[in-house]
Amino acid sequence: MAHSIGGIPITLRLRIEAGIGNTLTDVGYADIDTVIPVTVEPMAGAGAKVVVDTSALTSMVSGVVAAFESVIPVVGTHNHKPVQHRDGKPPWCPTCGLTADGNEPVSHLG
Ligand SMILES: [Zn+2]
Repeated sequence: MAHSIGGIPITLRLRIEAGIGNTLTDVGYADIDTVIPVTVEPMAGAGAKVVVDTSALTSMVSGVVAAFESVIPVVGTHNHKPVQHRDGKPPWCPTCGLTADGNEPVSHLG
């Protein structure tokens, strides 16, 4: 029979980055505030075993990561600003390398 002896409060921040063009862009973070339960299980004979149960935290992390995975393709947090370069290509953004409509710039020169 396990007996609760309290918990370990924890704040876990997940920072999510995504590759856009050749740069990594920070697309957000999520904080998980929870308490990891700690129990004591008496052992045969003398003594007891302290058990820290991280299974709930593990499933929370999986859930948050899955949520970000579905959001990342439509999120852009940088200031997307295509400018003209001397490369014969249409204006493209120095941050992500893409044009105003989100495509790879293609040179109109040979
Ligand atoms: Zn951009």
